[in-house]
Amino acid sequence: MNTAQEENKSEIQRLLDNNKNWAEKTQQEDPEFFSKLEKQQTPLYLWIGCSDSRVPANQIVDLMPGDVFVHRNVANMVVHTDFNCMSVLQYALDVLKVKHIIVCGHYGCGGVQAALDGDSFGLIDNWLMHIKDIAKANADELEKLEYHDRINRLCEMNVLEQARHVRETSVYKDAIARGQTVKLHSFIYSLSNGRITVLERDE
Ligand SMILES: [Zn+2]
Repeated sequence: MNTAQEENKSEIQRLLDNNKNWAEKTQQEDPEFFSKLEKQQTPLYLWIGCSDSRVPANQIVDLMPGDVFVHRNVANMVVHTDFNCMSVLQYALDVLKVKHIIVCGHYGCGGVQAALDGDSFGLIDNWLMHIKDIAKANADELEKLEYHDRINRLCEMNVLEQARHVRETSVYKDAIARGQTVKLHSFIYSLSNGRITVLERDE
């Protein structure tokens, strides 16, 4: 094996070693942990967040496996024609019957910045068109801001817009119509201090 191959192997071996240690530690702390989770998952929350490696859903709200149903994509978007996101939403509402849907963005989002800068990264440019539309619709407000503030304000606007998209879906409307209790929350996370700010939420 050459050096590059060895490095490659150790990068992955690290994960497998971590996993083994974590599974052993978790089982020691709660011998029933895996057998309980194996039987069913009953998460209270659906999390729709950004794929950014710095915003891991469970970790930043200190939840365990089984606690949160997660969908992540670039720039935490809810696109009505995205079969993936819609399926997650439908399953979370109809089958898991989550009580809360959280759309969580983050300041300094690379997807939002790329949309604002008009940089080209390939296929993803098309995905980011949705954010460009939000920027266009709010151009008057955004233009008044300094660059850094403009990105962060657009990050906030994007979260609020995606939460609105959740509310407009047929699956969400159907759940409300049949009397299901589900609250929608718009969160934004700060990479600089690890704190979440609530932008909007159902009472
Ligand atoms: Zn992001």
